[in-house]
Amino acid sequence: MHRKILLEEDEMPDKWYNILPDLPKPLPPPINPATQEPAKPEDLMQIFAKELIKQEMSDERWIKIPDEVREIYTLWRPTPLFRAVGLEKMLKTPAKIYYKFESVSPAGSHKPNTAVAQAYYNMVEGIENLTTETGAGQWGSALSFSGAMFGINITVYMVRISYDQKPFRKTLMQMWGAKVYPSPSNNTKFGSEILAKDPDNPGSLGIAISEAIEDAVTHENTKYTLGSVLNHVLLHQTVIGLEAKRQLEKVDDYPDKVIGCIGGGSSFSGLFWPFYYDVVTKKAPKDVEFVAVEPSACPSVTKGAYMYDHGDSAKMTPLLKMHTLGHNFMPPPIHAGGLRYHGMAPTLCLLANEGIVKAKAYNQLEVFDAASMFTKAEGHLPAPEPSHAIKAVIDEAIECRKTGEEKTLLFVLCGHGHFDMKAYEDYLGGKMVAYEYPSEEVKKAQERIIELYPWLRNL
Ligand SMILES: *Cc1c(COP(=O)(O)O)cnc(C)c1O
Repeated sequence: MHRKILLEEDEMPDKWYNILPDLPKPLPPPINPATQEPAKPEDLMQIFAKELIKQEMSDERWIKIPDEVREIYTLWRPTPLFRAVGLEKMLKTPAKIYYKFESVSPAGSHKPNTAVAQAYYNMVEGIENLTTETGAGQWGSALSFSGAMFGINITVYMVRISYDQKPFRKTLMQMWGAKVYPSPSNNTKFGSEILAKDPDNPGSLGIAISEAIEDAVTHENTKYTLGSVLNHVLLHQTVIGLEAKRQLEKVDDYPDKVIGCIGGGSSFSGLFWPFYYDVVTKKAPKDVEFVAVEPSACPSVTKGAYMYDHGDSAKMTPLLKMHTLGHNFMPPPIHAGGLRYHGMAPTLCLLANEGIVKAKAYNQLEVFDAASMFTKAEGHLPAPEPSHAIKAVIDEAIECRKTGEEKTLLFVLCGHGHFDMKAYEDYLGGKMVAYEYPSEEVKKAQERIIELYPWLRNL
């Protein structure tokens, strides 16, 4: 049996796949709240590189990966596809379980797949400084690494609670030469205002995004970058699914279910889009189900309202149509499981709303139990985020044991857990509790958005 399925360097994809032309309905456009009209490319040009805005709105299915980007990719790509032999045995399941292993990148996750591309296009356009936010530290690490590759200065606003709980992520970013500030910070007007009212504010991704955008628009030759949610980010991640499809071909297999965790939706989209392409072009040899898994502490898709909302707390981004918990969402501090963003990729939300992607939520206690089982069975310590997908895979595999079905399950192990020891220590110490974000809070957030923009009622 093949435990590890590899590709040669020259089998690495040379194009990214863009889902926009293949969506069942046109994607609702981002809206500029000042004009109540669709945002224009010019609105975005102040913060993003031109080529990335072009990709964001592109109706071309295939986008060439620049040679310079592919060359950096070879530091860790193609990544292995593993057959989870140990986990299958432990679960006594007839299901075949495969995982695409993105932990092998220098930053330890899938995020450099887009960070390298974003840094490259900014470099080509003569940008010298990039700003961004980071929650758990994965995206900040990926961009810091990519900045080092192309000689760009990186400034990272790191959510305060993670900055305190994961000091080693900060050190890693600094080793690549990045400047890292805890957010909220006194470095921006928005951050200072929050700190004046609440000096102990633990921060949120929404606040950190606002700070990073403010920093970019108030400095020369500086742009902002985002690590998930937007179309151009998700399409860069399709190297994951394109490789996985080739690897499965080598062992003559094809998934019945494609599963991934969702924070903003980029790793899961990177995995499932190429299989979705097979479905719409009638090339898929069987029915495929797409399953997205999120924490019950931050249940954007399973409980959130599908409506227009801002991507950040200071309301600087255009309004995006997505499942949202509200731009003022503060993740509960007892939640250690990652995936804490209030919104979700608009493409994923559209597909979930159409019933093409199914969403599930699990609490952090069951997720860490799954991580514990997986580590013992497979050896690789997963990050808490992909452990949500692992929990769903284990449940599916147990179901197959009951029914005797030999389903093929594929998921993306999008990062390792080597910087998540504090969370694993709490778990082993019995300090972790199950938690569900209350539906009433989601309703209140929805009402606040409508209060702010009554005209959204009709959209
Ligand atoms: C950022 C991150 C996530 C969540 O973001 P997505 O865009 O949904 O992939 C999940 N896992 C890891 C390891 C991450 O770094």
